Amino acid sequence: MEYVAPLQLGLKVDVDTLSGLTEGVVALANIFGARDIRASFYVALGPDNSGRAIFRVFRQQGFLEKMLRTRAPSVYGFPTMLYGTVFKAPEIGAAAPQVLPDLRVAGHEVGIHGYDHAGWHDRLHTMTRDEVAHEIRQAQAVFLKVFGEPATSFAAPGWQASRVSRTVLAEAGMLYASDTRGTQPFSPRFGAWVSPLLEIPTTLPTLDELLGFNNCSVEDFYTLILSRLEQGKPQVLTLHAELEGGPFREAFARFLDLCLERGVTFFRLVDYAQEILERPQDIPSAPVYQGRLPGRAGTVSRQGTLEDRS
Ligand SMILES: [Zn+2]
Repeated sequence: MEYVAPLQLGLKVDVDTLSGLTEGVVALANIFGARDIRASFYVALGPDNSGRAIFRVFRQQGFLEKMLRTRAPSVYGFPTMLYGTVFKAPEIGAAAPQVLPDLRVAGHEVGIHGYDHAGWHDRLHTMTRDEVAHEIRQAQAVFLKVFGEPATSFAAPGWQASRVSRTVLAEAGMLYASDTRGTQPFSPRFGAWVSPLLEIPTTLPTLDELLGFNNCSVEDFYTLILSRLEQGKPQVLTLHAELEGGPFREAFARFLDLCLERGVTFFRLVDYAQEILERPQDIPSAPVYQGRLPGRAGTVSRQGTLEDRS
């Protein structure tokens, strides 16, 4: 019988807010557990400043439209919308001490999605090396308290990466990072400098980007994702605990069942990284640039054209 390469999908779950951790993550862990699926979770461990997102409305073109399209007020809940503005921002990592260890016991990967999510998202490119290092140190301190050891994986808030952030992450002992949008794992180049830290980009669009775009329904979105899976070419899908673990959890669970019916296998990004790092000579490099994506406000860090490593 002819060997058919499996369809492979890495599930990367970003956790931005306190309710994402206490409600969304728990719901996703149940959905994955019922299907024997392992995923990678990245948690913003500092203050829940999601309320500051309100101010992006005035600065970033397309944000208001997106908030309305994704029904953000009902998705995130009214108090979350005000965190960091009227109410004092609660600490995300410290607030649910049992959720994160339980994830790891269930076989999932847990990494860091920044400390102050809104701060990184809005200001990374003007932050000094000391400021970026301070963010990572604070996140690692919370992680260390929860797990007794530092994190070895990182996913940048809002897909914002810079030469400075990659330098700090490599020094912090990360095995890999997932900071960009692209097509396949690579060594990111910023100007003449190539980051020594493996990058595993998100390769597929996200639900919040496409929902409502040209009347795209949640079912349409997952049909599109299924059609984008390719034999022998692993893909990475970013989920948000607040969305796929919130109001869209049933549609997401149906998508997973469809995937399983079609023989899709799921991987954790750490396992993918370890496999790639066994053959470092095969990792291509590519420049990283700030570019726009359909349905997303502002710019994100994107993988440019692949270059052979010489
Ligand atoms: Zn995020």
